[in-house]
Amino acid sequence: MALYNDTGIVLRSYSFGEADKIVVLISPNRGKLRAVAKGVRKTKSRFGGRLETFAHVDLVLYEGRNLDTITQVSMIEAFTTIRADLNRVVTAGTMIEVADVVAQEDEPARRLFLLLQRGLRALDGGAPHPDLLTAYLLKAAGIMGVAPALEHCAGCGSEGRLTRFSFAAGGALCERCRTPGSYALRAGVTGYLASAAASDLALLPEPDPAMTGEALGVTRRFVEYHLERRLDSMALLDA
Ligand SMILES: [Zn+2]
Repeated sequence: MALYNDTGIVLRSYSFGEADKIVVLISPNRGKLRAVAKGVRKTKSRFGGRLETFAHVDLVLYEGRNLDTITQVSMIEAFTTIRADLNRVVTAGTMIEVADVVAQEDEPARRLFLLLQRGLRALDGGAPHPDLLTAYLLKAAGIMGVAPALEHCAGCGSEGRLTRFSFAAGGALCERCRTPGSYALRAGVTGYLASAAASDLALLPEPDPAMTGEALGVTRRFVEYHLERRLDSMALLDA
């Protein structure tokens, strides 16, 4: 049986059989990876604690007919600061949820893996930037191939006043192109989103408290529209 090495961030895990777990990871090389961790629900498991959600781990696996089995785990980054704070857990949970929906099995996911890694690192540092999740979602939309038009009208391409936003049309619209389903945006929100989308997650521009809420709201609904599902983790932020 063939042994191989891989690296990945744990997206989630669930019980399997008497004492085992199925661990779902995102690997840059293989995309979504499902593997069995044997015996990890027993108290004396060698590596169960290293396979928690958010953990970035290196693995040794052996190939099985249906599922591969994890034989060794080493921790690369545990993101312990995230785990100690409920708001960060919710934000990280949303990042993980998006990566989980977008990644496919047996399809390399390097950009998505790196985005998630950078997002978790930014969240694990000092006080999280209020626009971190907004920027993450905008970058994820780019990886999905649906980056919203923010600096020009999604209808006619003009760079004039972009006062409307439409999920179906693919982003900001000018007054001339406004569609019945599009909604009004506060002046400056599209430019605010454009600079978040273009920035490194660790180096986001100075936040504007008047913009952060609307920026996240419109981005979240845009991503939900294109994923054709609600982001369950974000429902916790609504509460
Ligand atoms: Zn237009």
